[in-house]
Amino acid sequence: MTKNTPIGEVGDLPPEEFRRIAHEAVDWIADYLTNVESLPVKAKVRPGEVRARFPASAPEEGESLDGALATWRDVIVPGITHWNHPAFFGYFPSSGSAPGILGEMLAAALNVNAMVWRSSPAATEVEELATDWLRQMLGLPADFEGVINDTASNSTLYALATARQVAYPDVRQTGLFGQPRGRIYASDQAHSSVEKAVLTLGLGRGSFRPIESDDAFRMRPEALRAALEEDVAAGVRPIAVVATLGTTSTASMDPVAEIARIAREFEIWLHVDSAYAGSGAIVPELRPRFSGWEGADSIVMNPHKWFFTPSDCSVLFCRHPEQLAGAFSLVPEYLRSAEQGSTRSLMNYGVALGRRFRALKLWLVMRTFGSAGLARRLLDYVHMADELAGWVDEAPGWERVAPASFSTVVFRYAPAGMGLDETNALNQRILDRVNASGEAFLTHTVLRGKMTLRMAIGNVKTTREHVVHAWELLRDAAEALSKAA
Ligand code: PLP
Repeated sequence: MTKNTPIGEVGDLPPEEFRRIAHEAVDWIADYLTNVESLPVKAKVRPGEVRARFPASAPEEGESLDGALATWRDVIVPGITHWNHPAFFGYFPSSGSAPGILGEMLAAALNVNAMVWRSSPAATEVEELATDWLRQMLGLPADFEGVINDTASNSTLYALATARQVAYPDVRQTGLFGQPRGRIYASDQAHSSVEKAVLTLGLGRGSFRPIESDDAFRMRPEALRAALEEDVAAGVRPIAVVATLGTTSTASMDPVAEIARIAREFEIWLHVDSAYAGSGAIVPELRPRFSGWEGADSIVMNPHKWFFTPSDCSVLFCRHPEQLAGAFSLVPEYLRSAEQGSTRSLMNYGVALGRRFRALKLWLVMRTFGSAGLARRLLDYVHMADELAGWVDEAPGWERVAPASFSTVVFRYAPAGMGLDETNALNQRILDRVNASGEAFLTHTVLRGKMTLRMAIGNVKTTREHVVHAWELLRDAAEALSKAA
């Protein structure tokens, strides 16, 4: 088929045409990974601008993929904020590493659905294997079994659904009508996915009880205990506590060993949200920070955050996989098979029936980089973050708002004598100016009323020079905006 020939009447693209265009696409990917740094990190488009460049409806007759690739290059890519850029420091970075991208490509080619073992035996077994490799790297006991979900939000939802099932053993049959109110506890720094799970589980928003955090944004265990005692005395049924190891705003670590003791005492489920920082447990120097998390009932860790695995990939480790399956398993006749008792049916561990072959990219990342190679990379980022924290501490007018944790530093420009509102507005302008430069991308958080800049280091291509440059941009912006004021 020559360029711009219309697609055939029926069937897929001819194989030779696929080969030609796929080679072109792979060349584009390789060039992109090489040159991504020359693109602005944050997309320079206005809302609606991308969509306006497409026809309002799909074409009646098929069009060539050459034209589509041109649209990709000219319209879509300029509308992308590049998470793969080494100066992407926003949210928690994610990397489309080379082995991860290959895993996605190969999984797309197979397009299998690993809902039950026979629907794709290797996809089921590679998921068992990859999550077990990961468990070993993290130093978790062998009774934790992992399943892969799309996001930490869903992993946490499934963990808390299991906790609800344990607290209300009849919930599958009768629902929660007429039952005493239940409650789920997490620190006031916990990710919003915990509260969303409470909403989704039909517990009502009042069933989420945020627990005060201390000066370093860690849950105060004595406040948790007091809340549990108060609730039990009032006839409320505690269901679960979520400890966050690596909070979204500051990467602070809740005192998980103490929280685990309290959870045991009150006989409630302990879920650990370590979506970002969990990766750090593979680093021998960082492992002690996780001491006590092995006392959890479930732990979520996202390889698509700080583990070089492209989105989406979230691993839920559960100590009681039979209880997780107990909350979700519902096998219709057409999905029964002879081997279902002796093999894993991934569909039983969450809401979705269909399961993408996400394990392939995770296995490829671990196999390609190795546990020591992964640990070296993560430790490098921690050293960069520590160095950045030192620069902030020494720079006149700058201050850190929380201790640096793993590869995340939170700080702001607060010249002496400037009021809170003015300081907040100034930091917003600094952030906007740096992001508009296209040379670095950061996001923000608000901590006890203070607008705070947040830099999380973690893209596979990020080097110390990128951090140095972002810090220069921030200081230049602060200086220019202070002069202009
Ligand atoms: N938990 C924590 C601590 C997070 O920081 C985030 C996202 O940044 C999430 C959960 C939600 O992750 P996901 O986007 O995978 O649902």
